[in-house]
Amino acid sequence: MELTPELLSAGERLAARPWAFVKSVVALDGLPPGDRVEIAFAGRSNVGKSSLLNALVGFKGLARTSNTPGRTQEINYFRPDMADMFLVDMPGYGFAKAPKAKVDAWTELVSGYLKGRQALARVFLLIDARHGVKAVDLGIMEMLDAAAVSYQLVLTKSDKINTYELADMITQTGEMAAAHPAAYPFVLATSSETGQGIAELRGQMALILEERGHPVR
Ligand code: GDP
Repeated sequence: MELTPELLSAGERLAARPWAFVKSVVALDGLPPGDRVEIAFAGRSNVGKSSLLNALVGFKGLARTSNTPGRTQEINYFRPDMADMFLVDMPGYGFAKAPKAKVDAWTELVSGYLKGRQALARVFLLIDARHGVKAVDLGIMEMLDAAAVSYQLVLTKSDKINTYELADMITQTGEMAAAHPAAYPFVLATSSETGQGIAELRGQMALILEERGHPVR
């Protein structure tokens, strides 16, 4: 991935802005107007999404996702000062014992959002570096392919495995991404614990904004 020093520093400036919580969306009719570039984060529950969002843009506590089965599924919107974008925190998926009604509610909200959202520029699909892509993740990848939503696999908790295992996992998931039409072919390895990959992920967000005609100032 070619991230120039300019993009890395744009990503840093973006992350350093004050970020505010905008709203929680529980049904499609609650979505805000699609007039800003949206960058979404999705992944299985416990993949490390809240920790990553906190490391990325520092909204401690705000990104606490509703992980408890039975809790309302929400799409949470966040906004940085002075940039035309929303960061979209998707509800986690893949509970071991989720009741069918909860899975159905998730599917209706998430697939409705993914299928019809012009403003959505990229989904970062988080994958636990220890476990790799699971069947449930593949289901989401297929949903994104079908909706032609550009997405990128991001490994989380990279600090939990050694360098060789991580290199293998990057290769493996990269091959998987290459086989999916809407997947960005480059896999990013991150750790909220050590900060690995965080600057690159910020730079990637800056690149997306630039590509959409809203470069970070
Ligand atoms: P979420 O359910 O996807 O929002 O996941 P959380 O961010 O709440 O993280 C789930 C668990 O994984 C927590 O115990 C975190 O402390 C841990 N965790 C998250 N990210 C990392 C990481 O990068 N490295 C390590 N070692 N642990 C992590």
